[in-house]
Amino acid sequence: MSGPLDVDDTAEAGRGTLDAPPLEVTADREVAFGEVQVWRALPRRGRRSIGPWCFADHLRPTMIEDGRGLDIGPHPHIGLQTVTWLVAGQVLHRDSLGNEQLVRPGQLNLMTAGRGVAHSEETTGIHRGPLHGVQLWMAQAPDARQDPPAFEHHGELPTDDLGSGQLTVIIGELGSLRSPARCDLPAMGIDLRLRAGTAAVPGRPDFEYGCLVLEGALSVEGHLVLPGHLAALGRGRSSIDLGTAEPSRALLLGGRPFGHSLHMWWNFVAGDRHEIELARRDWAAGGDRFGRVASSLPRIEAPEPPWQFGERPS
Ligand code: MN
Repeated sequence: MSGPLDVDDTAEAGRGTLDAPPLEVTADREVAFGEVQVWRALPRRGRRSIGPWCFADHLRPTMIEDGRGLDIGPHPHIGLQTVTWLVAGQVLHRDSLGNEQLVRPGQLNLMTAGRGVAHSEETTGIHRGPLHGVQLWMAQAPDARQDPPAFEHHGELPTDDLGSGQLTVIIGELGSLRSPARCDLPAMGIDLRLRAGTAAVPGRPDFEYGCLVLEGALSVEGHLVLPGHLAALGRGRSSIDLGTAEPSRALLLGGRPFGHSLHMWWNFVAGDRHEIELARRDWAAGGDRFGRVASSLPRIEAPEPPWQFGERPS
């Protein structure tokens, strides 16, 4: 759910253009964390980001029967914000700022890494039943990457009716609804719960969009999208037409194209490889930059980087 990136995910195979064709639907890559199966929608070859959204893991519905499930030990982040959003179940967040926060469906955990933070994501040991949700990363702009780390929990978010369903604004704004969560860049993320029927979501022509289906099956601008797939929509839309024949749930992510250098490796997002290499060394050294997480889980060490030790990173 907060899984590290593989080199394969982040290969700079060109960002691709969404302006032609204006919409593409592609299958996510399957990733496993122990017994938890994940569909990784972003990044992927040819599409590293949608707006500032540079990582999207869909934690597939998993039955938690023995109290165990998602147990990701302390690990570091830089240069990004993590968004944890659940459809079912509970996840306990602990971070090096001293926060310990349970997140439940309909609530938002938002962690801003800035120059460096560490956290763990744990099962509570109490919850029994399905666990289902997403973890997303938003890249931070260069001027925010040196900000101090921060954490927010939002128990209530703005919700409205939408034709044949309801929506919740998690990040950013939609019409007159505005999420209280920190959002430094032109971006948005909304949760859609639709009954059978159609709905039109207002769009911004300067935004590109991505749609992940969490449950059911959704028609996005006339293209069928199923769980495990991402619909990527190019700029120039003033609305996004949705339709479904069954109760469905989806996330719509959007933003102005991220117009800055974007390097991603493991749990780090930065402007260049040098920043990433420094973060890798600082985490390995266990110093003050990333602090300590009060977790009983073992900390996660970074893998060997694909660049040579001692090489002056580009
Ligand atoms: Mn994480």
